[in-house]
Amino acid sequence: MKRLFGKGILMIIDGHSHVTLPLEQHIEEMDRCGVDRTVLFSTSIHPETATTVEEIRNEMAELGKILSGQKSQTEARTRALQELLQAVRSYPDRYIGFGNVPIGMTQEETDRYIEKNIVGNGLAGMGEFTLASGSVAKLTPIFRSSTGFGSLPIWIHAFHPLHLKDIQDIAELAARHPSVPVIIGHLGGFFWMETLDLVKTIPNLYLDTSAYYSTLVLKIAIHELPEKCLFGVDRPYGDLELALEAFRKLCGDEAIARAVMGENMLGILNR
Ligand SMILES: [Zn+2]
Repeated sequence: MKRLFGKGILMIIDGHSHVTLPLEQHIEEMDRCGVDRTVLFSTSIHPETATTVEEIRNEMAELGKILSGQKSQTEARTRALQELLQAVRSYPDRYIGFGNVPIGMTQEETDRYIEKNIVGNGLAGMGEFTLASGSVAKLTPIFRSSTGFGSLPIWIHAFHPLHLKDIQDIAELAARHPSVPVIIGHLGGFFWMETLDLVKTIPNLYLDTSAYYSTLVLKIAIHELPEKCLFGVDRPYGDLELALEAFRKLCGDEAIARAVMGENMLGILNR
């Protein structure tokens, strides 16, 4: 197998992973794998600490309670944000933070929240937005706010439960806010072909490659749209070393590797 990249050869950025504990273990793995930076997202649960199905079920039940409102969402969000900020402040030269923003607030409330919690804390973007199908329009105040705050990138989970119509709605929002980089998570899931077509035609729409369910899909995406795909791991749901191995094998070309593994994300962050 041809080794296209390794430590020091090119800038490698994991474009999507969640806070995992302990932080040191993640940094050590990044060091070992030659990964320079990780774009880090918050999490309300820590499934990485689970070793059995029962433990995973308990963690997911906790998430279910938060999502259904049985447990305070505000409290969970505040705790997750503090944990994210602590991680980014502990490793400022390794982590780039993207912060979550509640949806369903008015424009004024959204602006205030973003100014205080995202801009005020030096976070570089917003997400991961996980929406119910049919509710993409609720992101409109977030897009408007982003434009007002220097076009902060917006990262949206686009696997289940989103359908093609939802992804089309995201694309439409992106087209209406052309200065805002919009990252569609997980290649658009089962609708990857239609998503590729949308990303091709809308300049500010990008594709995150984490949680791909087929290496064939991944291969086609990075060869079809090398200037729009972003390497991502989705730790703890994905494994950094295995994800790198897949890209090593599938990129096939150094120019593609450079773009997908780091340059595209750098371009988004350094606008
Ligand atoms: Zn996701």
